[in-house]
Amino acid sequence: MTAQPAPTDLCSDCGVTIEHHHGEARCPACFDKYLFGLDAGFLESYRKFGARSRLIVAETCLRGLVLESPEHRKVLAMTIFEQYVGAMNDLAGLFTAFLNRGHAPILRSFLEFRLDAQSTPAFFAAVNSVDDVALCAALGLPLPREAQTMYDHLDESEAYDVAVAIYHLVQDLRKVTDQGDAAAMALAQFAGQIGNAVIASDARWLNGGAKGLNPDQVAMLILDNRRRTFSVQGLTADEGAMSQVVAAIDTATRAASNLVFAYLQTNDL
Ligand SMILES: [Zn+2]
Repeated sequence: MTAQPAPTDLCSDCGVTIEHHHGEARCPACFDKYLFGLDAGFLESYRKFGARSRLIVAETCLRGLVLESPEHRKVLAMTIFEQYVGAMNDLAGLFTAFLNRGHAPILRSFLEFRLDAQSTPAFFAAVNSVDDVALCAALGLPLPREAQTMYDHLDESEAYDVAVAIYHLVQDLRKVTDQGDAAAMALAQFAGQIGNAVIASDARWLNGGAKGLNPDQVAMLILDNRRRTFSVQGLTADEGAMSQVVAAIDTATRAASNLVFAYLQTNDL
């Protein structure tokens, strides 16, 4: 028999009584403090590895696209598209976590973030409704030219790297959101469906077939219980279109990485 410490009603960090105790170790305030303490380590690890994971999967699928049979190409195309939605979810989540960094740990905000009908247009608007000065300020970052002179802890070449990272971050944030509201809503809709969707190679078996679906498209089947509809969303598996999606994943990944790099460097973390 292993000796398990008896659950107490006291926070393991500060000793305060935890109300409505469910076996948790810390009070809410100490939990946030604990997570705030993990933010820098989490961000560094995310920048070095996690941020790139979606790009790695998408690039591998794109290489496979050339060789596979038509049906396999459709599976690869859908996987590439899933990585795009995931990369945008990560970037929007990171961006939103940075805006909220004074109130909640970045780690918590990031992991809790989901692209939906509110959060997606909010992310697009937060980028598109402000100029570069306000955008950098909201993220707690200097403008590129300021970054080169205002930090004593950075040597000349480090300060230059930070300036370059911030310059690209602003360009890339604009690029991934420049399609505006309609694109934001389409992305939110896909994000809501993609985890649960089943895909089909064609939709000829659906009553009357699916309008507008061509042989090169993969069909995503969507059941909407609220509206009592069963619909099909076509997605092209064409190599050219998929290269563009992979390029968009690359842009989102680079933006996330540059945001983290500039933040850690300017704050000497
Ligand atoms: Zn506590």
